[in-house]
Formats: sequence, C-alpha cells, structure tokens
Amino acid sequence: MKVFVRSRPTATFAQELIEILPDGKTVQIHQSKGRRCGGYHAPSSWCFQLDGVLHLLSQEEVYARVGQEVVLGALDGYNGTVLCFGQTGAGKTYTMTGTTESYRQRGIIPRAVEQVFQEVAKRSGHIFSVQLSYLEVYNDTLTDLLSTLAGPQNLAPRGPVPPPGPAPRPGLALMEEPGGRVSIRGLSLHTVQSQEEALDLLFEGELNRIMGAHAMNNHSSRSHCIFTLHIQSRSRSLSGSTFLRSKLSLVDLAGSERLGRTGGAGQTLQEATHINKSLSFLEQTILALADPRRDHVPFRQSKLTHALKHSLGGNCNTVLVANIYGEETHMDETLSTLRFASRMKSVKSQPSINQHVDPALEVKRLQKEVETLRDELSIQNLLVNGGGARYQPLSEAQQAELQDQVQRYLEGSLEAISVVSVRQLQEVFSQFRLVVQEQEQRVKAKLSQTYTLVERGRADDSANPKVRNSKPGSGSVV
Ligand code: ADP
Ligand code: MG
Repeated sequence: MKVFVRSRPTATFAQELIEILPDGKTVQIHQSKGRRCGGYHAPSSWCFQLDGVLHLLSQEEVYARVGQEVVLGALDGYNGTVLCFGQTGAGKTYTMTGTTESYRQRGIIPRAVEQVFQEVAKRSGHIFSVQLSYLEVYNDTLTDLLSTLAGPQNLAPRGPVPPPGPAPRPGLALMEEPGGRVSIRGLSLHTVQSQEEALDLLFEGELNRIMGAHAMNNHSSRSHCIFTLHIQSRSRSLSGSTFLRSKLSLVDLAGSERLGRTGGAGQTLQEATHINKSLSFLEQTILALADPRRDHVPFRQSKLTHALKHSLGGNCNTVLVANIYGEETHMDETLSTLRFASRMKSVKSQPSINQHVDPALEVKRLQKEVETLRDELSIQNLLVNGGGARYQPLSEAQQAELQDQVQRYLEGSLEAISVVSVRQLQEVFSQFRLVVQEQEQRVKAKLSQTYTLVERGRADDSANPKVRNSKPGSGSVV
C-alpha cells in the first residue's frame, strides 16, 4: 500500500512541531515543550516514514504522485483504490474532488476520469466500456448519489428525524454472489462514453451529496463517499475471448476525529460511533489482508469494508492520502492521522490482473482452433505419408476401398489393414459390423431352409418344446 501525507496550506504552519525531512518522505513530529502524558514524560518526537509528503503541492502535482499509476493499472485490469483519510477540514474532499470554482483546482476524481478517457482513445487495439457509480455510506446506511430519483427525499433515513418528502426507496443492499463477488443491489451503474458525460454525473452526485447534507444537518463530513469507475476491455481481434474487468474506487472517508468521552450526544454520538467503528474496521481489514497467516478477513464487519471488499489490499493497487492540518492546535489529530498512515504503510499487496473468459467467444475460438489443427494435421500427414490420411469425413470411394480391404482381410488374403486416421479406423469397425450383420442374415436364411423359425414371443404355449419336428427330419427352432 502506498501512503502519502498531504498538509493543508496555512500561514501558521507549525514548523517546529512538524518537520518534513529533505528526503520528502519522512515527517518528524516534535512534542511541544513541557508537555506531559499522565505522570510521565511523553516521548519527545515521533518519526513517520511514508512514500511521500505532499507539502505545498498543486492539485496537478498531487495527481501525478497519487493517481496516475493507479489509473493506468485499472486500464490494464488491476483494481485500484485511492482513499483520503483525516480529520474534518484537513482537505480530503479538496484532494478527492477539488473545488468547482476553478478548473486548476479540480481533484483526483475529475483528473482520473480525464486520464481514463485519454487512455481509452490511445489504446485503439482494445474496446473499452466505462461505467460509474457513486455511493455514500452514512451511519452504516448505503445511499446511491446517482439514483434517477435523486434528491434529499430519496436518501435513506438518517438519525432520528425522518427526511421530508416522499417515502425513501427501498435501501441498497450488499449482496454476496456465488464466487464471493460483492455487488450492491439497487446501486445505479451509468455507462459513460466521454469525459463530459462522466463529469456531469460526478457533479450531479456532488449536488445530491450537498442536498442530502442540508436536509440532514450537514452530515457530509460524517459520511464515506465512494466514486467508482467500472472498466471493462477486450482486444479488438475477434479471436480474443478473454476480457479484463477492473474497478477504480476513489474514496473520500468520513472525518477521523475522535470525539472526547463527553463530547456529544444523540445523533452526533451515533454518527461518531459509526465512523469510529467503520474506520477501525477498515484498518483491521487492511491489516488482516496483509497478514499471510490470516485466512479470514473481516470484510463484513461494516458496510464500508464490505463494499470495498475487492478494492482493498490483496490484489489491488491501493493508495492512501492522509490529510493533515499544519496548525499547532490540531497536533493531537495530526499525530493520530500519521499513526494510522504509518500502520497502513506496512501493508504489502500483490496486485493481480482480473481476467475473465467470455464463454460464447471461447467456443468460437476453440472451433477455429480445431479447424487450424485439422489443417495442420493434413499438412503434416502430407509431408510424412504422402497424403494418405484425411481428417475430413470419408468419401464414398474411400468407404468402398475400405470395404474391400475388410473383405480381403476376413478372407485372409490381406495380412493387415493399415490404420492411417481415426476416421478410417471407425470406418473399418463399421464395415466389420456390416459383415457380422450380413453373416447373421445368411445363417438365418440357411436355417429357415431346413427349419420353421418361430419368434420366441409368438410361441403360443410356453410349455411347448423349444424345438419340434414339423416333418420327419426337420424341426422348428424357437
Ligand atoms: P475535508 O473534506 O477533509 O473535511 P475539505 O477538503 O472540505 O476538508 O477542506 C476544507 C477547506 O480547506 C476547503 O475550503 C478546501 O477548499 C480547503 N483546502 C483544503 N486543502 C487545501 C489545499 N491543499 N489547498 C487549498 N485549499 C485547501
Ligand atoms: Mg469532506
């Protein structure tokens, strides 16, 4: 897992407390003077090793460091996830979505969409299909931010006050399909052909997020939002029956700040409990994924981790951006964000491609393969045997020729029938069957000259003798 720290720019950056080392990857936190922890002196400094510190970097530079590689991976068939983590106001939404006021300040989602469509245009040897979905998880309830019935009335009930307007639609549900694939029943998937279409939907989703936030007491910092691009691609060559399917999940997590023991009641407390739980389940899940001795990963503990089952650790490219404030007043939360980040840094993953096979195309491919092999066999045979063997059905003349060989073989004038192909061998056997059947007919005919043949079923009395004479010197056979 790649982990970056991004600091929110401020005129009062606590330089003495937050030291960014020249390698650009290490943050050292120095404890303020005279601070004590319980009755003991707390350690005076902590050192956090990361993949990069994004300090005073533009949105473009941040995208180049954080997003580009994950997006390229997704186009090659690897699942990819970018998560923004940190306390409310530290810059998660700015990093993920950016501001709508200025194009230059657009965030990772619009830039990823742009890059996806640029790559699709470049990779002309493949046919791509891109779909997107936008999901919100609030108090462990799922909401589709792109539902066609969007609007605050469509949002699932939150907290004790039911939302105004028509009754909400039946909620979304996480479903586990055979094979372990997780899908979200009811979540709308929108096929998009261009960057513009995708961005229109993103803005629609953002609008629904804001409307929902107003309806429910500005909860936006207390919900997790997952914007997902579902990418499918196949080679343009007809013979290719395999296709790649990947998910690019861009996740704006809920504010990670912990409320004090007495800091909240009612809805606020309920929200805080849900957030704390889901974030610690997220951490447990990611750590479990990284531990080869663990055979059970607790995805189902929360909706967030369940929805992200195929998008975390393991076989995915996962990047975490830990957003921090630079001011001294936020040092406790900054420290806790950095601790989370460095725990995530220890997570190892082995990304793998998600390749699937289309059965109809696979049949076509195999048929073609059979034909090619037949042709190859014929050529091979031509070279070795001078063209005696055939892999096509036998002609009438060939059948007659074999019949003759079988006759001569049975009479003893032919020593052996040389086998040159499976088809010819099958024909030899059917010729043998014909000979046997003819022989039977001849025997029957011969017997009936001497005896009256009665079929077993027609014998009128079961007590009748099996063979009786109808005239002296002759008999009947049942
Ligand atoms: P969060 O989503 O973590 O609660 P926001 O992304 O909403 O925080 O950021 C809070 C405010 O700070 C917003 O007005 C945002 O535009 C601003 N902000 C955050 N990070 C930056 C940054 N790197 N550069 C400029 N403005 C920022
Ligand atoms: Mg936010």
